[in-house]
Amino acid sequence: METYSQIRVIGEGSFGRAVLVQCRNTQEKYVLKEIQLPKNQSKLQSSRREAVLLSRMKHPNIVAFREAFEGDGLLCIVMEYCGGGDLLQRIQQQQKSSQFTVENILKWFAQMCAGAKHIHDKRVLHRDLKSKNIFLTDDSSVKLGDFGSACVLNSSKAYAQAYVGTPYYVAPEIWDNKPYNNKSDVWSLGCVLYELCTLQHPFQASSWKSLILKVCRGAYPPLPNHLPYELHYLIKHMFKTNPKDRPSVRTILTSHRVSRLLRSHL
Ligand code: ADP
Ligand code: MG
Repeated sequence: METYSQIRVIGEGSFGRAVLVQCRNTQEKYVLKEIQLPKNQSKLQSSRREAVLLSRMKHPNIVAFREAFEGDGLLCIVMEYCGGGDLLQRIQQQQKSSQFTVENILKWFAQMCAGAKHIHDKRVLHRDLKSKNIFLTDDSSVKLGDFGSACVLNSSKAYAQAYVGTPYYVAPEIWDNKPYNNKSDVWSLGCVLYELCTLQHPFQASSWKSLILKVCRGAYPPLPNHLPYELHYLIKHMFKTNPKDRPSVRTILTSHRVSRLLRSHL
């Protein structure tokens, strides 16, 4: 901890906490995420997975890993600080004024897809994509963060522990006890895109049971008519209830009807 001085705590959760720190040598700011290490050996491995998987990523739309170290029963992950906060806060702020512009929606969505494509290309699944885990930089680009639920594709973990994530963003196949796959991340990204378009969750209900029913039917309130055809088209395809019918992020960015439009916003 001597390398860094603490500025303030910016997030607290079940894992431990996220602290904004400053490097004493360079004066650069970082986020230091402290995770309480369990004593149990197999749980220990899964706690370390977050640092290992984040360290494998290197992309402008993914929070950059700096280093990780352990001491006093804590795992510390030092990463890039995104000064614009998380996208959920940004959406809540926007609810007080007006909708995001189409330009803005397309830019952020294209950046999220670019980040997600990098993750999937490395055969990793994020498994907890949601507006709260997407961060904004000072110059208003977005970066995917929080690899605390991530896993390697086709690993036994992807099967064993199917339900991770936050209920609003969970794909129908997960409620159906099928393994998590790359298209489940696409579903979650669709939920974030819908949130950007309407400032509301696509699937909302007063009970778990009715939420799950809506998700499994793929029943969401239609997007407002003023939004361009491409956004209607994307949402419709990302919310296909059968994961096989959903495009991959690669397809969205390279060979989908909307790819050219998206790439022009990158
Ligand atoms: P958790 O496992 O508790 O969800 P996160 O990694 O999502 O942990 O961090 C918790 C909160 O801390 C985030 O929602 C965000 O508000 C803040 N935070 C985490 N990492 C960063 C970062 N790199 N830049 C800015 N804020 C961050
Ligand atoms: Mg989080």
